[in-house]
Amino acid sequence: MTYEERLAFAATVNGFMPPDEGRALARHGLARASERPGGTWLEIGAWCGKSAVYLGAAAATGESVLYSLDHHRGSEENQFGWDYHDPTLVDPIDGRLNTLPSWQRTIAVAGLEETVIGLVGPSSVVAAHFAQPLDLLFIDGGHGHDVAWADYTAWTPAVVSGGLLAIHDVFPDPADGGRPPYEIYLAALADRFVEVDAVGSLRVLRAN
Ligand code: MG
Repeated sequence: MTYEERLAFAATVNGFMPPDEGRALARHGLARASERPGGTWLEIGAWCGKSAVYLGAAAATGESVLYSLDHHRGSEENQFGWDYHDPTLVDPIDGRLNTLPSWQRTIAVAGLEETVIGLVGPSSVVAAHFAQPLDLLFIDGGHGHDVAWADYTAWTPAVVSGGLLAIHDVFPDPADGGRPPYEIYLAALADRFVEVDAVGSLRVLRAN
């Protein structure tokens, strides 16, 4: 698939990112891939692979690699009885949510198996054993206070100077959504990051 074909495919994948935000993510990834080819990227929160295709399409243009990290058991709001529960993603054997088979199929269809590498497990455990500096980090994991802050504190120090930090589900107005992604966005601005773009609830920042 070409870059444009992958973006069109990404829009059809099960997930929570509107096409304008996905395309913005890909556009910044594309610029980063040409600025620094062969880079290491990481996203936290993979679900069924939608954002991995948007970012992977960009990574592939510069022979960069995207690690796509998730425990694949869904966040709180995806569990049974919650608004974002999808019964088609429940494993009939053990009754637990499992997005890994869908994620794997998505990456294969997009032809990105050598560009997007899955990391399956808890973010904090992987972070403690991951030493590679990051050229791009996308935080789109759990929205609860503890998980969002854990992702922020564990992973943002790994972003290299000039590298990008993207955060999803940033809602300045509490009526639009939960606080933690917005709080970590403010923390990043107070730290060494400057904002370069905002599309919907997506924020893209660059590290000084
Ligand atoms: Mg999100």
